[in-house]
Amino acid sequence: MNDCLFCKIIAGDIPSGRVYEDERIYAFKDINPQAPVHVLIVPKTHLSGLDGLEEAEDRLLASLLRAAHTIAAREGVETSGYRLISNCGPDACQSVKHLHFHLLGGKQLSEEMD
Ligand code: AMP
Ligand code: ZN
Repeated sequence: MNDCLFCKIIAGDIPSGRVYEDERIYAFKDINPQAPVHVLIVPKTHLSGLDGLEEAEDRLLASLLRAAHTIAAREGVETSGYRLISNCGPDACQSVKHLHFHLLGGKQLSEEMD
């Protein structure tokens, strides 16, 4: 998608701190980290968000979750723990309309979920 920030990052048109990449997935450091480890995990194909998923994306979704665990291990938070969040829609403050998961860790995260 031409005007999508994350599509531009995936294409290399905007620089990013890459931490993981495979054929279908790209992951990079969040520019405004909310925890010592804050990685964004995105599919290389443009999907708007959790609300844009169809059954055809089931395997991709599973791969994203599996990649999250690999990234957590690489970032050294596999044992200490981490949180995976995907904001969907206005109430969740989704600001980039390209499906992404936030992987947060490296500190004791709040029990609050909002
Ligand atoms: P969300 O609010 O869930 O849509 O998350 C979008 C995330 O993208 C935010 O946490 C931003 O800090 C992050 N972000 C925005 N621009 C960039 C960028 N150029 N590189 C890395 N992360 C970014
Ligand atoms: Zn996109």
